[in-house]
Amino acid sequence: MAKLAIGVDFGGTKVLAAVVDVESGKVRGTGKKKTRADDGPDELMERIYDTCDQAMVEAKIDRDHIVGIGVGIAGQVDAERGLLIGTANLSRSVVDLPMAKRLRDRFGVPVTLRNDVQIAAIGEARFGAGKGVDDFFCIFVGTGIGGAIVRDGVLVAGSDGSAGELGHTIVQAGGRICGCGGRGHLEAYASRTAITNVLIGELRRGRQSVLRQLIPDIDLTAPGGTAIRSGVLRKAVAAKDELVLEVVEEAGRYLGYGLATIVNVLNPRRIILGGGAIEAVDRLVQVAEQTTRREALPAAGERVDIVTAGLGDNAGVVGAAVIGAERGDRG
Ligand SMILES: [Zn+2]
Repeated sequence: MAKLAIGVDFGGTKVLAAVVDVESGKVRGTGKKKTRADDGPDELMERIYDTCDQAMVEAKIDRDHIVGIGVGIAGQVDAERGLLIGTANLSRSVVDLPMAKRLRDRFGVPVTLRNDVQIAAIGEARFGAGKGVDDFFCIFVGTGIGGAIVRDGVLVAGSDGSAGELGHTIVQAGGRICGCGGRGHLEAYASRTAITNVLIGELRRGRQSVLRQLIPDIDLTAPGGTAIRSGVLRKAVAAKDELVLEVVEEAGRYLGYGLATIVNVLNPRRIILGGGAIEAVDRLVQVAEQTTRREALPAAGERVDIVTAGLGDNAGVVGAAVIGAERGDRG
């Protein structure tokens, strides 16, 4: 009998759950729901319960087959208490919500909560682009930008659990205001939200772009960079749209500045790039790689492998399930 756990990836705009065979990394069933910025705590929990139920229905199992649940969430997590203590991109009603306890009460299995990118790094380490590599740095670019450090095969969480938060490193002193309130952070220049905000500003100023045809009824007031999805960016880049290329390439350069810092500080063997924007827009990865190699210290910058995530969109749910099952083993 396969060992199954549920992994939940709770992001800025959606929640994804999957029933995963934690020995093979195979996804047996999934569930997905959108989240809204104005969701209250009870609505959020209902959405998570629903996605878990959907995933179990698709996998044709019930809760007796599950050894545990792991949850990855965008923000700083208190793993001991199983709740989120700070977030730059999620609704404030998630902060201090006892998410692990509520899930445990609902499903009757052990539940572990961790930062979403740290969890995706565990998925990549076990079954993806980090397999067999002791020393790597993971960066995920989407609504925000998260990072995680794996050193000697072990996740480095740091003394307060926030090690690897590359999204909040300073790439432009005194620059744009970040979702966290700081200034000049990478996330304010290279996340999908940042790319979208710049594009919307330019469209408002009257710049021509294929975006006007791709999204005829574009909502220029939609929050959190949701007006332009990654898939639309991909189409605009493929159409060689001048405005979108300019903005994507600028974001790629900033991403490279951030990654060059990581190369210099940690000298990792490999950098793994993942997340919606990375999956969708190759040009972002190309420019980030060129900039990283050019800006980092020569030997470390030439030798580091720069690759995209092996598990794609599933890195988060697979890593979460792995963590959820480990906790389950200990009872
Ligand atoms: Zn920040």
